[in-house]
Amino acid sequence: MRIAIYPGSFDPITNGHVDVATRAATLFDQVVLAVYDAPPKRLLFTTEERVAMARQALEHLPNLRVASYSGLTVAFARSVGAQIVVRGLRVISDFEAEHQMALTNRELAPDIETVCLMTRREYAFLSATIAKEIAKLGGPVENFVPSHVAAALRLRFGSAEQQREAVIPTQLLRD
Ligand code: ADP
Repeated sequence: MRIAIYPGSFDPITNGHVDVATRAATLFDQVVLAVYDAPPKRLLFTTEERVAMARQALEHLPNLRVASYSGLTVAFARSVGAQIVVRGLRVISDFEAEHQMALTNRELAPDIETVCLMTRREYAFLSATIAKEIAKLGGPVENFVPSHVAAALRLRFGSAEQQREAVIPTQLLRD
């Protein structure tokens, strides 16, 4: 059985991530979208919120599940029996970081292979950072992220009153 993990920050999940995850689910028997709990960047959403939003975005894929992890990505891959790490490539500037990470992970775990999937043209310039920036400035993000994520972004950047109303269904918070 071919098991792959798709690790990342997913702060929040975008249509580009959904596309990569969906294509990975057709390539491998099982996919675990792995939400890294402490990436070296400032996060907008908590780990639980990132997991819940990803879960809702991908609930239609029967062979994909969402989990959070801490520590080494290759250690998490081993813990779920995965032999493959999936990453997405957008523009040439992604290549350097992905290349470095893939070679480092191969040093740490020669038995685990990295597979990079090329983005679709329409998502080539889409990142979670850009979606957050647009939402922060009050712009429309509906074309960039799933509708429940757009709502969460609007609430996060909206009034304090709106923020208190931002409730994520508790069944989606399960690990
Ligand atoms: P990280 O913080 O590890 O870069 P991200 O959540 O930003 O994690 O992204 C996870 C993976 O998805 C990375 O390999 C990234 O290149 C890829 N990715 C992000 N956005 C897109 C997109 N629009 N199209 C294809 N791949 C993407």
